[in-house]
Amino acid sequence: MKKIAIYGKCGIGKSTTVSNLSAALARRGLKVVQIGCDPKADSTKGLTGGKPITSVLEVLGLKKTGSTLDDLVVEGDLGVLCVEAGGPTPGIGCAGRGIISAFDRLEELDAWGRLAPDVVLCDVLGDVVCGGFAMPMRKGYADEVAIVSSGEMMALYAAHNIANALANFATRGYARLAGIIQNSRNIPDEDDLVRRAAAELNTSVIGIVPRCDLVQKAEDQGGTVVSCFPDSAQAGVYHALSCLLVPDLTSKLAHAGTAPAALAAAS
Ligand code: ADP
Ligand code: SF4
Ligand code: MG
Repeated sequence: MKKIAIYGKCGIGKSTTVSNLSAALARRGLKVVQIGCDPKADSTKGLTGGKPITSVLEVLGLKKTGSTLDDLVVEGDLGVLCVEAGGPTPGIGCAGRGIISAFDRLEELDAWGRLAPDVVLCDVLGDVVCGGFAMPMRKGYADEVAIVSSGEMMALYAAHNIANALANFATRGYARLAGIIQNSRNIPDEDDLVRRAAAELNTSVIGIVPRCDLVQKAEDQGGTVVSCFPDSAQAGVYHALSCLLVPDLTSKLAHAGTAPAALAAAS
C-alpha cells in the first residue's frame, strides 16, 4: 500500500488533480481510497456524480458510537473508495480536529486491513499547516507528500509553508516530499517559476498539468476528465502523473506506453 498526501493552497486544483489521479489509478486496476481532508468536504464529488457524500464528522455527530466502515466509505466511479473527513460548524471548533477524528475512526475500524487498498490519496488543504492539517504527513498516515502549485505567488508561498512543515518532521521518519505537481494557470514564465521554486525547496517538478477546458466540462457532468474524456490528451496527462507518483505498480497500467508520452508532450 502506498499512501500519498497531496497538499496545496485552497482553489489551486488539488481535488481536481487528486480525483483524476484516483480515476487513473483505478483504471490501472488498482484499489484506491481517496480521503478529502478539507472542511469543504468536496474532494470526491468528481467521483460521486457531483453529489456530496456524508463526512466522517457528520457521521460521528449522528452516531456517537457504532459507526461502521459502510457509514464512512462510499464507492465512487471506477470503484474508487471515497471518504470525506469534513469540518466543524463554521465559526466553532477546529477544522484540523475533523481530520484527526476521521483518521482515528478509520484506524479503529481497521480500514486499511479490511479495505486493503493499493493506494491511499489524501487531498489536504494546505493554506494553514497547523497540527491538524499536518496530520496526514505525520504518524505514518502518508509515505509521501506532493504539493500542487501554479506559478502564482500565493500558491508558491503555500508550497513553501508545506515544505517547511515537512522539513520539521524529516528527522522523525515521517513522509518525504515527492515534489511539486504544477497545475498551470498560464501565467508568464510559469514553468520556470515553478521549477525554480522547486529547486529552492530541494525538490523537483513531478509533472505539469496544463490548464484545460475539459476539466470544467467534466465537472459539469459530475465526473473526472479521465472518466468523461478518456481519450483526451488531458486524461493522458493524469495517467502519466499517476505512473510517476506510483511507479512501482506500472505493470498493471492499461495505458502503458501512451501516457508518459502525453505528459512529455504537455510539459
Ligand atoms: P482545490 O481542491 O485546491 O480547492 P479544485 O480542485 O476544487 O481546487 O479546483 C478549483 C477550480 O479550478 C475548479 O473549478 C476546477 O474546475 C478548476 N481547475 C482545476 N484544475 C484545472 C485545470 N488543470 N484546468 C482548468 N481548470 C482547472
Ligand atoms: Fe484547528 Fe488548525 Fe484551525 Fe488551529 S489553525 S483551530 S489547529 S484547524
Ligand atoms: Mg478541494
